[in-house]
Amino acid sequence: MDDINVLTLGNAGYVELLEVFGSDLTVVNAARVSFAKESTEFSDRDKGLINYLAKHNHVSPFFHPQVRMRIKMPIFLAREWYRHTVGFARNEVSRRYVDSDPEFYLPETCRERDPKLKQGSKQETVKDNRLCTDAMRESYEKSFQIYKALMEQGVCPEQARMVLPQSMYTEFIETASLAAYARLCKLRLDPGAQKEIRDYANAVVTLLRPKFPVSWEALCAEFES
Ligand SMILES: Cc1cc2nc3c(=O)[nH]c(=O)nc-3n(C[C@H](O)[C@H](O)[C@H](O)COP(=O)(O)OP(=O)(O)OC[C@H]3O[C@@H](n4cnc5c(N)ncnc54)[C@H](O)[C@@H]3O)c2cc1C
Repeated sequence: MDDINVLTLGNAGYVELLEVFGSDLTVVNAARVSFAKESTEFSDRDKGLINYLAKHNHVSPFFHPQVRMRIKMPIFLAREWYRHTVGFARNEVSRRYVDSDPEFYLPETCRERDPKLKQGSKQETVKDNRLCTDAMRESYEKSFQIYKALMEQGVCPEQARMVLPQSMYTEFIETASLAAYARLCKLRLDPGAQKEIRDYANAVVTLLRPKFPVSWEALCAEFES
């Protein structure tokens, strides 16, 4: 069966795996160069080495495999995603230049606020979910109309975009090391992270785990749901 390369999220989002450089063997051989050794086929001994490296936080061999993704997510999530900086390179669509119709993330359900947390939510849906999602949609439509009206008046896209909400989708290409994605997923799969970003982190897990099964298990298994 072919590996999955793209996973859709929300009403217009996705995570697409574009390219993968390396494998579990890349990690092993990065580590074995210390002893001027190299493996040509992955063995049980190599598995033991990867587990040892992960357990003892010898992370640099996990920097060598590289992954390129194309990701589309709402801006409020991209702001959180972009906080993960070390080991990542990103380029993003610019609404200074692009003036195509924006797309907005509309949740199917609005979750209740959790009074026990400073930030966060319960799993329960608010009583009048329909009223709330309709209000969100109306607000998006109004912003969109104003955006269009501003540009009809000759306002440049880089200023007209100021009225667009945080729920607007953005798109970027991201290249990062296996270690960087493992770190991001570890932090963003935590139950304290926002549900919507956990969904994106879970998509990354689904795409990367089959490419680096031993390394991913060693680095991340304890954090996954
Ligand atoms: C659940 C959750 C809630 C969050 N809430 C908030 C919030 O309310 N407000 C907010 O501002 N941020 C918040 N963050 C973001 C958080 O503070 C981190 O910026 C983010 O998780 C990225 O962490 P990182 O280790 O991947 O960072 P990276 O910048 O990718 O750094 C990777 C690692 O490199 C090292 N490093 C990087 N920079 C330095 C440095 N200057 N000095 C020394 N070592 C360095 C550290 O070991 C670091 O962990 C939140 C994150 C999570 C997961």
